[in-house]
Amino acid sequence: MSTTTYPVTWDLEIFFRGGSESEELRAHLEEGEKKVLAYTEAVGDFRTPEAAGAAEKVAALIEQTKNTSAHLRESGAVIGCFLAQDTTDKKAHLLQGESSALGAKFQTAFMMFQQKLSETDEKVWEELLASGELEEFSFILNEWRKKAAAKLPEEQEAIITALSVDGYHGWGELYDLLVGDMQVTVKVDGEEKVLSVGQANNLGTHPDPAVRKEAFEKLEAAWAEKEEFFAKALNSLAGFRLQVYEKRGWDEVLQEPLEYNRMKQETLDAMWGAISSNKQPFAEYLKRKAALLGKEQLDWYDFSAPVSESTSKLDYQEGAEFILNQFGKFGPELESFARMALENGWVEAEDRPNKRPGGFCTGMPLSEESRIFMTYSGSMSNVATLAHELGHAFHSYALRPVHQLNRQYAMNVAETASTFAEMIVADAAVKEAQSREEKMALLEDKAQRSVSFFMNIHARFLFETRFYEERKKGVVSSDRLNELMAEAQREAYAGALGETHPHFWASKLHFYITDVPFYNFPYTFGYLFSLSIYAKALEEGKSFEEKYMALLRDTAVMTTEELAMKHLGEDITKQEFWEKGVRLCIRDVEEFLSLTSDEG
Ligand SMILES: [Zn+2]
Repeated sequence: MSTTTYPVTWDLEIFFRGGSESEELRAHLEEGEKKVLAYTEAVGDFRTPEAAGAAEKVAALIEQTKNTSAHLRESGAVIGCFLAQDTTDKKAHLLQGESSALGAKFQTAFMMFQQKLSETDEKVWEELLASGELEEFSFILNEWRKKAAAKLPEEQEAIITALSVDGYHGWGELYDLLVGDMQVTVKVDGEEKVLSVGQANNLGTHPDPAVRKEAFEKLEAAWAEKEEFFAKALNSLAGFRLQVYEKRGWDEVLQEPLEYNRMKQETLDAMWGAISSNKQPFAEYLKRKAALLGKEQLDWYDFSAPVSESTSKLDYQEGAEFILNQFGKFGPELESFARMALENGWVEAEDRPNKRPGGFCTGMPLSEESRIFMTYSGSMSNVATLAHELGHAFHSYALRPVHQLNRQYAMNVAETASTFAEMIVADAAVKEAQSREEKMALLEDKAQRSVSFFMNIHARFLFETRFYEERKKGVVSSDRLNELMAEAQREAYAGALGETHPHFWASKLHFYITDVPFYNFPYTFGYLFSLSIYAKALEEGKSFEEKYMALLRDTAVMTTEELAMKHLGEDITKQEFWEKGVRLCIRDVEEFLSLTSDEG
């Protein structure tokens, strides 16, 4: 047994001494201000290249882009950590405001640089990319250029951006405002409680079915009461987007999200195809869960209901050792990296008040380190979260040799390394479960996850694509939105759903996010993509780690199709690829079904 004690709080002093009052941080921000000014000036002086000889100039500006951005992100990440570790840190709130204002200034200049560069004439462009200075960046530079070409002329895009503030983003902000203001009263443990939407949603995991049902019904009623407001916001958002798409000459509403995720329509179709033709085992699981809860069919508010209790507890030291042990079976690099992170105070895990909920991993690009945030209270799911976040940090570690401009991976592959690491640990936990109850709880956890990726997210996708098609013809009424949603849910849950959640379109923030459209399928993509990599790792054993790291290094310099072909030899435009990952999930569900067969 190891005698190491892993610290439960993180070390932020190594970046800036003195917390949010740090003098070093103050100086760093002031230097950042100067850097942004200098960068803005350099971009202002920059002219669209007219000959290949400009390569050196372009490369120098790329270098300045990288340095300025890394400088800002270093302090931004640390300030984010200050806020997470103590939500009452007022100084940190002020610093965050300062930091994001600086970030916005940088972003404006950066976009101008992209635009000027993208206007380079075709022949010069080819020569530039062939030059020694810029070859390394050809993927990302071509992407900038392609994006700029698909848009309207600069002045028109500038008008759209300006009008977006009130005419587009404003609707998303109004949504947040409306939801933040909502309250419902639910009787919990014999007491009437006034709850926010988030708190009422959390009652979905309450063991008492009456509480779950009441919370759900009260929420449905609350959404129904305000449905005209939400319908207005949703129609306006979609209308704005469609207008912009039309002006740019884009016919497909999925064009933007697919490009953003560097993937083809065929790939998306193959993924949903594999899922749609394999729904039966998950529908069986939902039926079994209904039986375990003493019901004929599962209603919406029963999805997260507990059917058994995970009893085993691991303290932080044991949890960390468990993870290192399992990582070690996969490969030496992952294990030694995780050990280094755990020993050197990269993780904030202490269970104490005033911490933000949830977990995250953030990177400090100047120091080339990461920090992980979570609250560890000893459950197996906490262990899985720690493994998940260590996976994110490992992705950054694998990317160290790569230029920072080539590290901007898209959302659909962002969860690859994290899900992968989590899977190693979750699988081991099932294998080593001490009791039937424990095993059931762990398998159920996995099954619930598959249901949310294959059914819940599928319903969102079906709803959103259909809604956008109808919206092209005019405003879609709230009644029709309810209908579309209930239909999408019945279809996505393969008939295994009793009572639907028609106002889900009003309740789900994702439909109102204005930064990224169609914030749904990348989740399912990431989950299944990493599962199939995991399936490969199981086949190939320890020798796979090298290939795995090479794949991670390439996550931001090619399309997803190219990435899978180069490193896995797989064609992800084909349904067969996606079925491999789905099969792993079916295996878990089958194990759950056989474990609970006497109760079915
Ligand atoms: Zn994650």
